[in-house]
Amino acid sequence: MVGNWKLNLDHLQAIDLVQKLAWTLADAKHDYDLTEVVVAPSFTSLRSVQTLVDGDKLSIRYASQDVSSHSSGAYTGEVSAEQLAKLGVSYAIIGHSERRQYHGEAEELINAKVAAALGAGIAPIVCVGESLEVRHAKGHVPLTLGHVDGALAGLTSEQASQVVIAYEPVWAIGTGEVATPEDAQEMAEAIRARIAETFDSGVANGMRILYGGSVKADNVAAIMAKPDVDGALVGGASLVLDQFSAIARFR
Ligand code: PGA
Repeated sequence: MVGNWKLNLDHLQAIDLVQKLAWTLADAKHDYDLTEVVVAPSFTSLRSVQTLVDGDKLSIRYASQDVSSHSSGAYTGEVSAEQLAKLGVSYAIIGHSERRQYHGEAEELINAKVAAALGAGIAPIVCVGESLEVRHAKGHVPLTLGHVDGALAGLTSEQASQVVIAYEPVWAIGTGEVATPEDAQEMAEAIRARIAETFDSGVANGMRILYGGSVKADNVAAIMAKPDVDGALVGGASLVLDQFSAIARFR
């Protein structure tokens, strides 16, 4: 279960929420081996979150919301995968629809970011998914599989096995409009089949495929009941302690 905090919370608010989440899950005797819990704060909070997680030996892991495709040099404003790895970052969200939409990110750049993350030992969480227009035109499966192909192009099976894919239909993000569990399953199954074709069935079966888009405490269980959905990428509800802790304990 991954909480994508987007552009919210300063570093003090971030550590406060991580601490409270850890306490709540400890009270509930959360089994982190069964359900991994990841938060993705802003870059400015990562060092503080690292200090808290290391100091208190928390089992919560943390992700960056983006990563540079470059490892160093004259790239003002960029943050490299190596820099993030030094901060104990386990995952990097890559190719989120908000980055595709507002920052013009396309397949080639996303593919380079995936390679950069893997090179530094960070597992990419690659976001894929269609707009409402494309869904209405019934082009959602080919478009989403195109995102998958583009992001994973050139990877070895060993590299691909580190990747997490998040299916996030754009029309369901931040809208309260959640895809049906059947929609989530249809796409997760298609993604897994494509991974089996491109790599092998071992990589496909082991791959974690998340659903994202208006996931809340009261709809997570139905989505998670689908066989090809392994987790959720949660935006708005991940900022609310009661919501996100309930989502992590969906079982
Ligand atoms: P949402 O966002 O849960 O607020 O719809 C999901 C996401 O963008 O990752």
